[in-house]
Order: sequence, then structure tokens, then C-alpha cells
Amino acid sequence: MSVKTNLEAVAQKMYGKAIKDLDDSQLYFAILNMTKDMMENKGTIKGKKKVYYISAEFLIGKLLSNNLINLGIYDELDAALKEEGKELSRIEEVEPEPSLGNGGLGRLAACFLDSIASLGLPGDGIGLNYHFGLFKQVFKDRQQTAEKNDWIEDQSWLTKTDISFPVYFGKKKVMSRLYDIDVIGYDQGMNKLHLFDIETVDESIVKEGIDFDKNDIDKNLTLFLYPDDSDEAGQQLRIYQQYFMVCNGAQLILKEMKDNGYDLHKMYEHAVIQINDTHPTMVIPELIRILTEEEGFEMEEAIDVVSKTCAYTNHTILAEALEKWPVKYLQKVVPQLMPIIWELDKRAAIKYDDPKVQIIDKDLRVHMAHIDIHYGFSVNGVAAIHTEILKDTELNHFYKIYPEKFNNKTNGITFRRWLMSCNKELAACITKTIGDGWKKDADELEKLLEYKDDAALLSEIKAIKNDKKAALAAYIKENEGQEINPNSIYDIQIKRLHEYKRQQMNALYIIHKYLEIKEGKKPSTPITFIFGAKAAPAYIIAQDIIHLLLCLQEIINNDPDVKDYMKVVMVENYNVSYAEKLIPACDISEQISLASKEASGTGNMKFMLNGAVTLGTSDGANVEINELVGDDNIYIFGEKSEQVIKHYEKADYVSKDFYEKSDVIKEAVDFITSKEVLEVGNEERLTRLQKELINKDWFMTLLDLEDYIETKDKMFEDFKDEDKWKKMMLVNIAKAGFFSSDRTIAEYNRDIWKLN
Ligand SMILES: *Cc1c(COP(=O)(O)O)cnc(C)c1O
Repeated sequence: MSVKTNLEAVAQKMYGKAIKDLDDSQLYFAILNMTKDMMENKGTIKGKKKVYYISAEFLIGKLLSNNLINLGIYDELDAALKEEGKELSRIEEVEPEPSLGNGGLGRLAACFLDSIASLGLPGDGIGLNYHFGLFKQVFKDRQQTAEKNDWIEDQSWLTKTDISFPVYFGKKKVMSRLYDIDVIGYDQGMNKLHLFDIETVDESIVKEGIDFDKNDIDKNLTLFLYPDDSDEAGQQLRIYQQYFMVCNGAQLILKEMKDNGYDLHKMYEHAVIQINDTHPTMVIPELIRILTEEEGFEMEEAIDVVSKTCAYTNHTILAEALEKWPVKYLQKVVPQLMPIIWELDKRAAIKYDDPKVQIIDKDLRVHMAHIDIHYGFSVNGVAAIHTEILKDTELNHFYKIYPEKFNNKTNGITFRRWLMSCNKELAACITKTIGDGWKKDADELEKLLEYKDDAALLSEIKAIKNDKKAALAAYIKENEGQEINPNSIYDIQIKRLHEYKRQQMNALYIIHKYLEIKEGKKPSTPITFIFGAKAAPAYIIAQDIIHLLLCLQEIINNDPDVKDYMKVVMVENYNVSYAEKLIPACDISEQISLASKEASGTGNMKFMLNGAVTLGTSDGANVEINELVGDDNIYIFGEKSEQVIKHYEKADYVSKDFYEKSDVIKEAVDFITSKEVLEVGNEERLTRLQKELINKDWFMTLLDLEDYIETKDKMFEDFKDEDKWKKMMLVNIAKAGFFSSDRTIAEYNRDIWKLN
């Protein structure tokens, strides 16, 4: 049956109408239902051993386009709808975006699910069904405010199951409810994303913005992702959520083992649990608890079996992000788990007396990562340099004990979403040139290198870029009310707002450029600086940086001397859907974190794949991008990670020295509290930010600022050399194959999971 016939039948059944008589919203729901049925019909991927990817975040984005592509029916449906005067891309806009993640870590989990299924491997995700997910960002008075993001509708990709488990917080019992989202592989069968929820959640307790009563867990447990944890109730709610997730996950995994008739004593032959960062760590003591209390295991064997089943991925070396829960909190929320955690601590302490590898420290805080490392069989970092830093510094004490556990798995992205779906024109151009083998074997993109001097292809790729830039300009006009020049250079920094990612350094460059233009030094090609970033509601300095960017946008875009040469746009509510519009249109990809601080980054990979050229530090996966494309096709600047690590060890970085010694730096930093900015901005925020930069600057913005300015100016200069730039674009696309998450997942499977 053709897709059109199928859809016609669904439309008749749901609405009693023909396709041409439905509006976009009705069509969306008709296509949703048709697609869900078609995915079910593909059947579940089966095997003797399965991976459970457990994660507090799955930043899946909209699913329609991706599911259609993976089912292989996108083009057919698109054509069928056109015959009826309908536009699939407009219908896709109807879908709300689930925001079940903060940023890179959650997006990685989503890319991994796509690749696990696309490689035909049995593997399910386990997480939480947050009703409002991450907050929706709204700018008011040039500041970020937060609203709830309502994404669950009566009909959606979620399917309610009849699975429900009891979960105890001490004596308090709640019942869970499992919802599933089907994950269809590219030309493959189906896995599941399991999202647990409780049915007593009360959405009406959310008042102003995202405020709610944090104490009543029956009502609030799954309302939000990572509620503001700056106070005690917020932190405890996070522990409630984490335990709820792992307790359900453990019960689901054990149920599947039993349903298949597997011997729990050999559970590790049939299940591997990948722990995504420390948030799901409690799955280790929880499984041990269940095996000893309910399945008759001796402690010794329970620990052995669980340790052979669990593997841990580390995502950061930022100390403040490595979770350490006070014993007091755990004792209050999950008293049944504390005896197990004490036992695990005792066993580790007997074997190793180094205080740096203890699970419970002298201040009675439980180091979650330490549980993972002692009682899991694998520890992986997410880019080559990150894994080396873990081994040499941050986790060196563990590396000495367990060298065999440590391994690297450089992150990746799914090319289905980040090329085939978001940039169909470029995907088609590549296929026309080298065939479509790259869709299943991304390394084949290298065949493009043979066309390095093919003027026709180079021009076509540039023309596609220009079309995407025009489309983005129209979108930004409509959504942000900002007019941008589609012939300008698009310089884009989109990622969570964090001082280590150094949006503030980009802001200082913008000030520098603005002052230069005011003095009459005009760039020969106009530049548009685009930002997208959410800041955690409790992260004050990050809010201040957003405020500065919005002030600069106001001043610069309205300055008649300047606006024809440069513009600044901070887009509201940056999320996956926005990323899909921004990335194909980008010329310059800003990846300027302080070296050693960005574990990998995945935004950098998405940009490269879409023909942007990277401006970056030697950090995370930038290092590997550099190795692949060579020094001629990337712009690297700034202090290297070894030096940066030494600065921290010696505590010898003094930002004030840099501020006082350089006129360029001083001018830019002083401008933050100039008359012009104070006229449109909030004095408290701007002063605080300026003081932070001069007196502290923990992430060493001023250290790299001059090198950054010089390198960026060079890049703008080189942009004028069209032939050179087009070749750089081509080389970046051709070398991006390594960053397919299919490669990453194949490596996880080869080295850690060993499925099939
Ligand atoms: C890819 C992605 C990220 C991660 O970006 P980085 O630049 O690697 O930090 C964050 N948010 C969204 C919406 C993404 O798509």
C-alpha cells in the first residue's frame, strides 16, 4: 500500500475527511498515528544481550521528520502531500518539542538511541517523563525569564503502558507508570525509550513562571527537569527523581531478565547498563539491594554481578558538576539504600586507604562517581583529550588502581537528524556526487575530497549555504523581530550559557569590533553575531552575560553608524528545533571554551558536518577535528590545556594584570559599564559581571582575548577569499564522517557492551 493510500485511510478514520480538507494540525495528528503504526510493524530489535542506556536526560527534539526518514518514507509522503497542496515542512512545525534535557549530555543520549537502533542493536533508553521538561526561555527587559514548557498532548509519541512498579522512599510508597516512545532505526527495527512517571503529578501547583512547592513529591516528582537546586528542598527533590528513575529502571531490567527466563546470577551475559554521568548512579546500590533482599543473593555475589553489568560515562571535569550528596539527604530520602552504600564504602576503604578514592568522605558526603568507578567495569571519557585529562589528573588515583577500566569513546551525532533532516539540500547534493553509501557508512564522505577542485560542486555547496542563510534571516525576522543581512558572515555561538564556554569572550570581541567601527575602521564584509543559550535559573553570572548580550544587541542594531556593518542577535529559547535552523546557515562555528574544560562538545560536530569552519580552542573534540581537517581548515587559538591546568595548579592567573596591561582588553571591559550600556541595561548586573572579569575570571577570558581577536579578524579576512573558503567548507564536510554517532556506538559495542 502506498503511503498516500495509507494516510488517506487514517484521515478518513480520524476526521472523516480527505487529506486536502485537513488543516496542518489535523494532518500532523493523522501522520503521527500512521507513523506510530508503521513503526510498530517494523518489530522489536532482538538479541541475547541488551544495553540499557540510563540517563536523567534525553533531549530528543521533535520526532516526526526523523521517524519518517528512518522509515524511508519522507520523500514519498512529502510528494504525496504536495499533490494535495500541503507542505510537510509546515506540518512539522505543529509538533511541540519535548525538552527532556539541558544540552549536550541529553542530546548525546538521543543521538545514541538513534544509532543503537540504526545499527540493529538491542538497546533501550531509561529516563523520566518530565511534564514540563526544561524551562522555556522568555526575554523581558533584556533579561532571561523562565516559563513552563508544556509538551505533552492527548496524542503524542508517548504510549502509556500497563507497566507500573512500587517505589519506596523509606516508608512512603508511590506507584510509577511507564510511558514508551518508539525509537526506529534507519532502515531497521525498533527499540524503546522508557520514560517513568507517577500518576499523581499535579501540573496546577506550578505558579508564576516555574515556581512550585518542592515538598510534596506526590504532586511534583516528575514536573520539571532539574528544578532549581540552589536550596535544600530542590536538592532533595533531585535525589527523589534520581532514585525514582533507577528504582524503576532496576525493576524493569530484572523483569525483562525473568520474562526471558535468564538466570539472574548471569545477568551480565544478557544486560549491560550504561550509566550516563552520575545522575543514575544509585542504580548500582539499588540493584544490589534488590538482589540481596529479594532474590536471595549473598552480598559478595550481588556486588560481583552488578559490577559486571554496569559501565559509567564521565562527562565533565568541572568539580562543581561531580555530584556529592550529603549522607543526611540520602538517609532522609532513601534510607533503605544507605546500608548498601556504607557497605560499598567499607569494602573500598579496606582495599584502598587513599582518601581520594573513598566513597563517603570525612564530611559525610557520598561521591557518586566513586561508586561508579569502584563498582562498574568500565569508565569512559567522551573525547581523546578529555579521557587523557581524566587519567592524568582528575581521576588519576582511580586510574592507578584500575587502568584496565578506563577507555575513550569520542562523542558523535546522528547524521539522520543533523544532515539528512535539517539540511536535505546538502544531503541530496552529497548523494548526487558520491552516491548514498555515506548514509550507512559515514566514512564514505571522504570521497568528497576528490572534488576539492571541482568548481561546480564547490559553488553548489556555497549556494546551498546561502539559501540556508536567507531562510534563517526570514525565520529570525519573524521570530525575533530582528532584521539581518543574508549576505553577511554568520558567526554563531549556540550552547548552554556557562562561563567556561566563554560567551563573555565573544561579547568582548563584539564590543571591540563595535568600538573599531565607531572609530571608522569598517569591516569589508558585514558580520552577524548570533547567540542562543539558556542559563540555569540559579546561575547569576550566566544571567548577567545574557543581559550583556541583549544590551549589545539593542545598542548595536540601532546604531546608524554601525548597523550596516555588524549586528547581534540573541535568539530566544534556543533548543533542538532552533539548532536545526541555525546550524545549516552557519559560516563560523564558535567553540571557544577554556582549554581542558569542554569534555567533548557535539555542537562543533554538527556545524562541521554542515560546512561551517571552526574557530576554537584546543579543547574537547575540537582537537580531533583539527587532526582530521589539518591546520589549514580550522582556526585554533588560545592557551593549550597543559598550560591552563598548570595555571590552576599554581594559582598564578591574575586577570587584573591582563586588564591593566592591554588597552584593547581594558577598553572592551570598561565598555560594559559605559554610559551607552547603562542607558539600556541593569547596573547591578553589568557591574557585577565587570567586577567578576577583572577580579576573578575563573575561566580565564582575558588570558585568551587578544589571541581570539587576532584569529577571528584573520578569519573574517579569509572569508573574502571565496575559493579558499569553499574548499575549507568541503574539507570539513568530507572529514566529518568520524563524528557519526554510528561510529561511537560501534565502539561502545566493540569495547564495552559486546552485544551480538
Ligand atoms: C548539540 C546541542 C547542544 C550541545 O552543544 P555544545 O556546543 O556541544 O555544548 C546543546 N543544546 C542543543 C539544543 C543541541 O542541539
